[in-house]
Amino acid sequence: MDGLPESLKPVATATCQHTLKSAIGCVGVGLHTGRKVAVALQPAPPDTGIVFRRTDLGPHPGIDIAARFDHVTDTRLCTMLASPDHPEARVGTVEHLMAAFAGAGVDNAIVTVDGPELPVLDGSAAPFLFLIDCAGVVEQAAPRTLIDILRPVRVEDGQAFAELRPGSAGLHLSVSIDFEAAAIGRQALSLHLTGHSFRGELAQARTFAQLHEIDALKAVGLALGGSLQNALVVDGPRLVNPEGLRIDHEFVRHKLLDAVGDLALAGGALQGRFVAHRAGHALNNRLLRTVFADAANWRLVQAEPVGRASYAYGTRAAA
Ligand SMILES: [Zn+2]
Repeated sequence: MDGLPESLKPVATATCQHTLKSAIGCVGVGLHTGRKVAVALQPAPPDTGIVFRRTDLGPHPGIDIAARFDHVTDTRLCTMLASPDHPEARVGTVEHLMAAFAGAGVDNAIVTVDGPELPVLDGSAAPFLFLIDCAGVVEQAAPRTLIDILRPVRVEDGQAFAELRPGSAGLHLSVSIDFEAAAIGRQALSLHLTGHSFRGELAQARTFAQLHEIDALKAVGLALGGSLQNALVVDGPRLVNPEGLRIDHEFVRHKLLDAVGDLALAGGALQGRFVAHRAGHALNNRLLRTVFADAANWRLVQAEPVGRASYAYGTRAAA
């Protein structure tokens, strides 16, 4: 696999599980606490999934929090996970790292963190993807299980909705947003999640906020680590960041990136079509809870036997 170009490395349609080749870490500031945190991404055996480990809590080596939709405890400002056994063990702002793992096709990893929030870095998934690329990704001798959506499931909140529909060959996402702020306005984007589309279309899109929201958050002691270095800030028709956008439609791209991260909490790679309008972390999480509340909505399908992995995109990974 090492010889393959990045764009051809397996992702949503891979048939074997993957983990990191080596451990890698970085230090950054949490968006909401403003505190410095150290995070390390470490290899993990097959069927581990993504597990966050609070190394500053509990007996050595720390308290583990599996990255699953039913461990989400707060979705107001980010997606926050907590251990069901130790509710005080929380980790917030996991969505951009979860998206990077999904985009890079990493199924199994231990993520150690010494505080209640992952570092926000530049507000996108690109720095996490860079860390994953530096560590390298290796195939594991274990088949990958996909979660196949069998019938449409929809959740709504006023005009906002999020829906998963049956589909083939990995995950297809269509997201639209509609903001009063003219600098954002209406934007829509559809794509098939592959290593290539994640890198080219989503990874570098930064989180965004409106100026009046930031003032309100800081007044109550949140977004303390927020700055123009880690977020796009909009004031009506004006983009405050002097450097401008990194990529056209950066706002909806970030919403789609967030959805990839939130859906990665399903506990396995989804196979289906995600459609959402004005949705956010709360609706994304409610969608997963609704899907998995009824066994008729989904089934697990095993990818093809180990050793017959296909690196082609768009091919159906399981019968
Ligand atoms: Zn985000």
